[in-house]
Amino acid sequence: MEIKAIRGFNDILPDEIGKWQFVEKTAREIFEGFGFSEIRIPILERTELFSRGIGEATDIVEKEMYTFTDRGGNSLTLRPEATASMARAYLEHQMYSFDPVAKLYSMGPMFRYERPQKGRYRQFYQIDAEVFGVGNPMVDAEVIIMLIHFLGRVGLENLELQINTLGCRECRPRYREELKRFFEGKSGQLCEDCQRRLHSNPLRIFDCKVETCKEAIQDAPRVTDFICPDCQKHFDQVKDYLAMSGLAYILNPRLVRGLDYYTRTAFEVVSYSLGAQNAVTGGGRYDNLFQEIGGLDVPGIGFAVGVERLISLLSKEKEFVQHPQLFVAALGEEGYKEAYRVVNLLHLQGIRAELDYERKSLKSQMRRADKLKAHYALILGEEELKKGKVVLRNMENKSQEEIPIDGIVNVLKEKIVSD
Ligand code: AMP
Repeated sequence: MEIKAIRGFNDILPDEIGKWQFVEKTAREIFEGFGFSEIRIPILERTELFSRGIGEATDIVEKEMYTFTDRGGNSLTLRPEATASMARAYLEHQMYSFDPVAKLYSMGPMFRYERPQKGRYRQFYQIDAEVFGVGNPMVDAEVIIMLIHFLGRVGLENLELQINTLGCRECRPRYREELKRFFEGKSGQLCEDCQRRLHSNPLRIFDCKVETCKEAIQDAPRVTDFICPDCQKHFDQVKDYLAMSGLAYILNPRLVRGLDYYTRTAFEVVSYSLGAQNAVTGGGRYDNLFQEIGGLDVPGIGFAVGVERLISLLSKEKEFVQHPQLFVAALGEEGYKEAYRVVNLLHLQGIRAELDYERKSLKSQMRRADKLKAHYALILGEEELKKGKVVLRNMENKSQEEIPIDGIVNVLKEKIVSD
C-alpha cells in the first residue's frame, strides 16, 4: 500500500514555497528593523512546560497535545506553541542578566491534535514575536504596530485589529466568578464542553462555536466592567499609543485568548477574506507565565501569526514561483559538452540555469524551456558552434540574436541580471 502523509500534516511543495520564503523574509526584515533578534527553540519539550505554562484547563493541554513517553521514561510533548519555550530559554540562559528586555522572534512548526479542516491543521507554522521584561503599555502598542506593519507589507487587505483587556491576577478572579454565576443560570443552553469549562475556565466559553453557546454568550458580563484601576489605566494607554500611530482598532469585549497565561492586553487580527477560521494572528500580554514556569516575575507580550492562513490570503496576482532564468538547449556531442560547461559556470555565478539531460530533439528541448517558463533560452547548434556562435532567444518576446561563445558567461550574466 502506498504510504501517505498523516492527516493534518502537509507537504509544502516547490510551487508554493516562494510564498513561504517571501513571508519569512519579510518577517525577518521587519522584525529585525524593530530591534528583534531570532531565537530557535526545540520542537520537543518536557510536557510540564506546557501544562504549567499554558494551563491544565485549556483545550490545548486537555486534548490537543502530542505527548509521549520517551525511552528514558520522560513525558515529552511536541510544542503546541512557541511562547512557553521562548520564555523557558530566556530563563534558562539568564538572558535577563545582560539586559532585562529581550525582543525575540522565532518561526517554525507547531503541533496540535485538532480536527483538520481548511485553515486548521495538526502541524502548522507560526511566526512568533515576543518582548520579555517590559510591562509598559508602550510595548503592547509597539508589538501591535509591528504586527500590522508586517501584515501590510506582505500585502494583506481587509484586516481588522480587535483588542480587549483580560484583567490581571487581582481583578480577573472576580470576573470569573461573575461569569460562572451568569453561565450557571444558562447551563441548559451550554454544550458538553462548555459545561465542563463552566467550572474549569468559564472564559473559554466565549470561544465556543456551538450555536446555543453563542446565544448564551450574548448578554454575558463584560470583563471591562470588572477590571481594576491599574488594568484600566494600562488599557487606556495602549489605546492612546495605538491612536497616536494612527492604527484603527475595534474593541471586542468577547475576545479572550485560549491560553491561561494571558493578562491585560489581548488582540487578534481577523480577515474578512477567510472563512470560519478567520483569525490570522493572535497575541497578548502574559505577565504570569514566567512565574508559572520558573518563579521569576517577568512581564511578557507577543503574538503568533498562523503562516498557512496568512499565505492563503496573499495576492493571487503576485508571482512567487521561481522559473529558470535560462534554459540551455544543445545539439550534438560538442553542443552538449559546451552546454554543460556554460551551465556549470552560470550556477557558480548564482544564475538559475537548466539544461536537457536526455539528448532530446531541439523541438522537445524548447518545449521544456517553455513549460518551465524560462526567461531565456540559449541554443547551442552544431553549425553555429563551428562558427563560434550561439543563439540567445528571449522566450517572452521571442526575439533572438547570435552572440559569440567567447566570454558568453559574462555576456549572459549581464543580460540576465540587468533584465
Ligand atoms: P494561537 O496560538 O491559538 O493563538 O494561534 C495563533 C494563530 O495560529 C491563529 O491565529 C491561527 O492563525 C494559527 N493557528 C492556530 N491553530 C492552528 C491550526 N491548528 N492550524 C493552522 N493554523 C493555526
